[in-house]
Amino acid sequence: MISGDIVPNVQKIKELLKETGYKLTPQRRFIIDSMIDRKKSHLSIEEIFTEVKKVCPEIGIATVYRTVQLFEDVGIMAKQYFDDGCYRYEIIDDSKNHNHYHLKCNTCGEVFEIEDNYFDELESHIEKDKKFKITNHKVTFYGLCEKCSKMSG
Ligand SMILES: [Zn+2]
Ligand SMILES: [Zn+2]
Repeated sequence: MISGDIVPNVQKIKELLKETGYKLTPQRRFIIDSMIDRKKSHLSIEEIFTEVKKVCPEIGIATVYRTVQLFEDVGIMAKQYFDDGCYRYEIIDDSKNHNHYHLKCNTCGEVFEIEDNYFDELESHIEKDKKFKITNHKVTFYGLCEKCSKMSG
């Protein structure tokens, strides 16, 4: 499945792999494709495996595991931990990696992303106050998503 807007991203990933001496094999490509849709981001290895098996039934979970590990090593994917017992992976998008926060629903488990500059002021405050040069930060908010909070009344 190749759509117009995902091509530049895949192209970039291809180049990153090439720089580090790897090829974008069909199996690696399937794994990227299963995650490139932001809505399908923050998947665990098991969930990536389930997605990839739909298009590539012969793939094994060990391959998925190794590939994701490789992607993490070369900086294509980032690992996140949301206190739900497994690591979740997302494709790194340089343009939004900094200033991207997570909202994790305690009820349905869904992870939402917010890209905003809420913390810019806090960062410069800390930098000035503590003389600490901040290069990145990770913030996750836990709570109830709109759907779940409606259901709980
Ligand atoms: Zn929810
Ligand atoms: Zn994310």
